[in-house]
Amino acid sequence: MNELDSELVAGRLAQLGYAMTREAGEADVLLYNTCSVREQAEQKVWSRLGELKRTKKTRPELVVGVLGCMAERDGSDLMKRMPVVDIMCGPGELDKLPELLDNAVRTRASLAGDQSASQAALQGNTSRRSQTLAAAEDRLELLDLSRTISPVDPDGGHRSSYVRITRGCNKFCTYCVVPFTRGAEIHRPPEHIIDECKRLADAGVVEVTLLGQTVNHYRFEHGASVAVGGVTQPQKGRTYKGSHHRDAFAGTSVTTFADLLHQIHEQVPGIERLRFVTSYPRDFGNDVLEVMRDSERICRYLHVPAQSGSDTVLRRMNRGYTVGEYLEFLDRARQFLHQPEIGRPLMLSGDIIVGFPGETDEDYQGTVRLLEQSRYKNCFIFKYSPRPGTVAYDKIPDDVPEVIKRERNNHLLAVQARIGEAIGNEQIGQTFDVLVEGLSQRQLKASGLTNAARKPRTIEVTIGGSAVATAPVVDDADQGDGTVQVTGRSDGDLIIHFDVDNAAHAKSLIGRIVPVEVVSASGLSMGGRLVSAD
Ligand code: SAM
Ligand code: SF4
Repeated sequence: MNELDSELVAGRLAQLGYAMTREAGEADVLLYNTCSVREQAEQKVWSRLGELKRTKKTRPELVVGVLGCMAERDGSDLMKRMPVVDIMCGPGELDKLPELLDNAVRTRASLAGDQSASQAALQGNTSRRSQTLAAAEDRLELLDLSRTISPVDPDGGHRSSYVRITRGCNKFCTYCVVPFTRGAEIHRPPEHIIDECKRLADAGVVEVTLLGQTVNHYRFEHGASVAVGGVTQPQKGRTYKGSHHRDAFAGTSVTTFADLLHQIHEQVPGIERLRFVTSYPRDFGNDVLEVMRDSERICRYLHVPAQSGSDTVLRRMNRGYTVGEYLEFLDRARQFLHQPEIGRPLMLSGDIIVGFPGETDEDYQGTVRLLEQSRYKNCFIFKYSPRPGTVAYDKIPDDVPEVIKRERNNHLLAVQARIGEAIGNEQIGQTFDVLVEGLSQRQLKASGLTNAARKPRTIEVTIGGSAVATAPVVDDADQGDGTVQVTGRSDGDLIIHFDVDNAAHAKSLIGRIVPVEVVSASGLSMGGRLVSAD
């Protein structure tokens, strides 16, 4: 989500004459796109802002902005605590950033060092923060619609892109800040989504990942849609009962998630891989699984967080399903989609929180069992982090000691590593279609290079400068014997590295889907051998 927001903001600023810099030290404007989901992420931003105090003394004209969840949550407190910050812009008002930035840059210049006055002016702007979430005309949609899509660099530019289909979340899991920082669930009109996919495909993108906090809840009712200025507006998510099966809506003008997947698959053949995150385990209808099974270019991959393997903890988290229901869903998904015999095994990944308030040893053992039964290829494991403003923070004491949280976290990581390795070993001898993404980490290190295709988290721009060219990293790569190691992913999201004979060959493969036989497995990745490619 944040990566896509950074891309949209950087693209919009580029349209307005700002240019990205290579180094933070060269920038006139530093923008931090922040996440508040866990405290640790916020701490990192606080320390980066702390380091800027000294820089600002020598360069008072430098404009510093905090974007995203922290700006939404911490508001003027953040500015009081960190006077280096000139701009705050929550995820619901990113469309206003150019205006805020222009204001800040002009104010900085004209006040020539009078910081208190410039801050007062900027705080006036940021007080409009949450209003955007409720605005009748969804200006954020315009930001998505104005996305700049440049042709993909034929020499190894990033060929995977995100497309947002819903914003916000209505679930209110008791530990989570997202419904507060990103607002209520809103579904984008299907025609906007399909058009964005077409534009990306035309620009050379081969893989699209559809984004939503509960992506499978996508649903757009055409009869109830509203247009403002000729633009169909996104629609608030509604709670609805019953099946998500397509038949339930036969004859009505509703686009369900299954319909949306089917339409993108049929209407945008240039997208060779279509995937989506994050799936919510409840209400996942067979209609989606059927479309996935019957569509060649939809990936056999589901990221479907369980969060815990204890019914008591799941209830306290307000997740709305039991362990039995979760496992029933995985079984159903496997029945539809697990087809190793045609080279398309279903791969799963998950999220787990350990040390949620009240989690006993017995609850935790339930989570270990769930991990063993789910057999994720990888799982993101988090220690519970109490977040102010959430129900758990206010009502459920954070009573699992830090040392126990750490112990469970480390133990679960070890359990998952064993499962991941076993899954890796099962793939040896199989051949997968691999989308080659670029040089492997090992190759980048060996060649003293950085990954030029990396997406920005900090946006560093100059005013009126010229864009920084992408470094020709592949030309400089070599493992000492002339061979080059590249990396890519299978449609089940397995990471596979393989060697090719020289840099020119590596360059010709990047962005293409090629058959690779798995010959070894270790940790989270696999070693392979290129079977053939023209
Ligand atoms: N919407 C997705 C879902 O519910 O499956 C997840 C979105 S959340 C931004 C990503 C992950 O962060 C969650 O799945 C959860 O495991 C973790 N997370 C969220 N709040 C947390 C908290 N307060 N402490 C620890 N982990 C948290
Ligand atoms: Fe947060 Fe739950 Fe919504 Fe996921 S579903 S974003 S964990 S509230």
